[in-house]
Amino acid sequence: MVIRFDNVSVRYGTGTLGLDGIDLEIPDGQFVVVVGLSGAGKSTLVRTINGLVPVTSGTLTVGDQQVSGARARDLRTLRAKVGMIFQSFNLVSRTSVMNNVLVGRLHQTSTLRSLLGWWKPEDREIAFQALERVGIVEKAWVRASQLSGGQQQRVAIARVLAQEPSVILADEPVASLDPPTANQVMRDLRRINRELGITTIVNLHFLDLARTYGDRIIGMRGGKVVFDGTGADADDAV
Ligand code: ADP
Ligand code: ADP
Repeated sequence: MVIRFDNVSVRYGTGTLGLDGIDLEIPDGQFVVVVGLSGAGKSTLVRTINGLVPVTSGTLTVGDQQVSGARARDLRTLRAKVGMIFQSFNLVSRTSVMNNVLVGRLHQTSTLRSLLGWWKPEDREIAFQALERVGIVEKAWVRASQLSGGQQQRVAIARVLAQEPSVILADEPVASLDPPTANQVMRDLRRINRELGITTIVNLHFLDLARTYGDRIIGMRGGKVVFDGTGADADDAV
């Protein structure tokens, strides 16, 4: 889906300006990396896209949905189409990998069915395919807490894929991983972007990873976009 920011600002209740007049157009299928120091506005930017943080002024549209000014109930359909990945994986550690991935199907089923574990065969099939795509289908029945950090992040990616998303937002997905594992997770995210054509936005602290993987690098500082280009000339992006 195409994402358009037109002079978008976010002011938090504390008075802090999280975003300050953002103008951006992200074409369908692009793999974008957002870089910036802590407090630059990266999380705020991605959280406006699924309506988690409300826009204070300006216009934000995701696909054909206008997000700015929309009520929470109007954003339900959009949220189902936007997958989020976090630094802390956010898995339910005591339950199986499979059950964690099935969480991505919750919007397709009733709460009662999910509580009873009565998943439709179709939901299980989609969850299996998602685990295959990230290469850990053999871990399906292992407890999430028994996996390494990199494997847990792959489960989180599979959970998002089970959502059958149009957009993937990853907020510092590799910040708690060692460099080889971080590279692996970035490779997975970009491969999935290439295979499925899902518009993907990844927030990162480090410019080197951004340069290696981003088709487009957006640099942020003080809630503003201070760089928008490719890796070759990204020296001033942070
Ligand atoms: P980054 O992801 O680049 O670290 P953030 O988007 O988290 O940046 O933060 C941008 C600015 O907004 C910072 O000054 C931060 O302290 C502030 N901020 C973020 N979340 C909130 C919040 N929930 N309430 C108030 N201020 C916030
Ligand atoms: P990040 O990894 O993006 O830097 P933080 O650790 O800054 O995240 O923030 C963690 C949580 O605290 C987020 O939900 C963010 O919105 C919130 N937060 C960040 N800064 C502030 C702030 N100044 N006041 C209130 N909440 C904040």
